[in-house]
Amino acid sequence: MRQYALHPSPVVSLPIIGSDDHFPARRIYCVGKNYKKHVAEMGGDPKKSSPIFFTKSRETVVHSGHVIQYPPQTADLHYEVELLVAMADDNEVFGYGTAIDMTRRDIQAVAKSKGAPWDMAKNFDHSAPCSALLPTAQTPDLSHANIRLLKNGKLMQNSSLDKMIWSVEDIIAHLSASVTLCAGDLIMTGTPEGVGPVVATDHLIGEIEGLPSIEVRYEDA
Ligand code: MN
Repeated sequence: MRQYALHPSPVVSLPIIGSDDHFPARRIYCVGKNYKKHVAEMGGDPKKSSPIFFTKSRETVVHSGHVIQYPPQTADLHYEVELLVAMADDNEVFGYGTAIDMTRRDIQAVAKSKGAPWDMAKNFDHSAPCSALLPTAQTPDLSHANIRLLKNGKLMQNSSLDKMIWSVEDIIAHLSASVTLCAGDLIMTGTPEGVGPVVATDHLIGEIEGLPSIEVRYEDA
């Protein structure tokens, strides 16, 4: 048996509703610019919108109910509530959940202005709070489902999945033309308008009608 010089990194997984099994996470792909009003609020032109993809490491996953230390190197941490898609083999969807694409907006703004990569704005410790997954067979029709984010009980984002420019099928088609999607891959499908800042002590709840919700609280580092 092969011996390792260090402990191999542990498997990162998500709970599955109605099962004792857990979903082993692989890569996390994220879609940018998938709701017209969010493209507009970020200063983009919705008419010229096309999907962009970036990634987060699976090690950035945070489970619902956790308390997160406010991240370093930012004074403008933002929430983005998103539909989470979990992949099985052969481009089939294993299940769905709710995620929050946490973003260091100030770092992203600098990166955008320089044409530099977004990694440090998007792929940092604890930047991917993800709910449990609901298997596809148990998932209701999501085409008009409400998607929303509450900060300290106040409604900050409130939209509908039918406002997505690129549907789940479109996203899987685009992604799988570029990479071989594999069982365990996760996709965050973009956020609607209403993104905004988080401070230490803020409490976030992301909800999509019919799906498990995600809830996290921030504290001072
Ligand atoms: Mn996002």
